[in-house]
Amino acid sequence: MNDDKSMVSRCDATTCRFNDDHNCTAGQVEISMSGQTAQCMTFIPAEGMSDTQSVRADHH
Ligand code: SF4
Repeated sequence: MNDDKSMVSRCDATTCRFNDDHNCTAGQVEISMSGQTAQCMTFIPAEGMSDTQSVRADHH
């Protein structure tokens, strides 16, 4: 089976706003391969998933 609609057949990054039930809806994504791990450069956190993860350099 060759589905050339997207280079991503299945994505586990369910917190990505383009992820729809493990399907990537971004259409075009940039994947960076490092070893056996594919990292998506198009990943964008879904809106309203969590606003408790604001990254902040907290120096005391
Ligand atoms: S954009 Fe990347 S991280 Fe998001 S669903 Fe598509 S492949 Fe996954």
